[in-house]
Amino acid sequence: MTMKTMRKEEVAMRLAKPGIVIRHRQDGVVERWTYVGWIPWKRVKAGLTVEEAMGRLIQKGWQTGRVTRVPSEATLRRWEEEGVAEAQDGCRVEIDGYCPHGWPSWLIVAGLV
Ligand SMILES: [Zn+2]
Repeated sequence: MTMKTMRKEEVAMRLAKPGIVIRHRQDGVVERWTYVGWIPWKRVKAGLTVEEAMGRLIQKGWQTGRVTRVPSEATLRRWEEEGVAEAQDGCRVEIDGYCPHGWPSWLIVAGLV
């Protein structure tokens, strides 16, 4: 259990903006979260390390923390049935709504509504 080799698929910290959550893989692929899971979205610009690319996004206002904590499939399904969901920042919203802080329902982020 002392192997510390970084595999290509290993992912760094997640980043989010209203409506989107992404994660950078060490191989430079940036994945976006949707209701089917993490899907390839973009690549880190040539000449930039993953860390540099993430630093630039953070400067542009991308955030870490709670707004990146994507819900499980079961939770999404429950919210859809109840007609009330959590927004990315944890506020309660309608499943197709935004909270007063500008964050959308997780069902919007997931691409379900
Ligand atoms: Zn809010």
